[in-house]
Amino acid sequence: MNAAKYIWMNGKFVAWDDAKVHVLSHTLHYGNGVIEGTKAYKTERGYAIFRLNDHTKRLKESAKMTLMEIPYSVEEMNQAQVELIRKNEFSGDNVYLRPFAFLGYGVMGVYHKDAPVETAVAAWEWGAYLGEEGMKKGIKLKIVSMTRPANTSNMGKAKAVANYLNSQMAKYEAIDCGYEEALLLDDQGYVAEASGASFFMVKNGVLITPPNDNSLESITQKTVIEMAQNMGIKVERKRISREDVYIADEAFLTGTAAEITPVRLIDAREIGCGARGEITEKLQSGYFDIVFGRNKEYDHYLTYV
Ligand code: PMP
Repeated sequence: MNAAKYIWMNGKFVAWDDAKVHVLSHTLHYGNGVIEGTKAYKTERGYAIFRLNDHTKRLKESAKMTLMEIPYSVEEMNQAQVELIRKNEFSGDNVYLRPFAFLGYGVMGVYHKDAPVETAVAAWEWGAYLGEEGMKKGIKLKIVSMTRPANTSNMGKAKAVANYLNSQMAKYEAIDCGYEEALLLDDQGYVAEASGASFFMVKNGVLITPPNDNSLESITQKTVIEMAQNMGIKVERKRISREDVYIADEAFLTGTAAEITPVRLIDAREIGCGARGEITEKLQSGYFDIVFGRNKEYDHYLTYV
């Protein structure tokens, strides 16, 4: 990965190599931690963080769901992220921010109430999550054997570290089978989400994405829905079955890291023309206009650093 100069840790900026934890940190053993993934883009007016407040709020809400108290307010954490971008003196097109909280050293055993909460934010330059070529030509997606855990045994709406074991197993299987990303169904057999992104498809000119019944309440998904509606594209949120996916006219993934990544093939079925679709391309370029500050209508989503 690309190292940067500083990491914000428990209220202080520390040198990248000094941001360390004890091997007996509670989260390393029992998996209760929460993360965010936020992105800053280099606009004409310098770096701007996209939907900063929404991401920080989701971090605090994820922590509430997993019974962890982050001792910083949304405002304090927003400020830490702004200062971190400034202090690191980045130069690339975009910077990924990873705010997170975990349980540190001092308590063993599953009961975590007395384990100390540690809070940190790291930032680094990161290229296209699913590859530059994938952004233009589309990627190959596999519906994997793993399903998203049922709502009765996990909390899919929390951006909880523990949920990413399921994502990791899914992603590994997809790549091992020659695909680039995994699509996970829910325990009822309907599309939930990809291992680290939301799923959209187009059928007869209508944009369809599943409700967040068993998936992260994605900020990019919300942005894409708003953008599509403003462009006059009809949007439906409904359950999607495996059969629906196979006969889609277009498909794409969305997420802070994935941005808008076209899908050209799913489980050996070519999607549409087997390349980036027309509506996908329109939304993709619209999204980049927004995050790079070229569309004034959405300027309220940008926090200039
Ligand atoms: N689902 C999962 C499992 C994810 O990890 C992500 C990435 N954060 C998303 C969806 C997309 O969420 P967002 O648009 O808020 O980045």
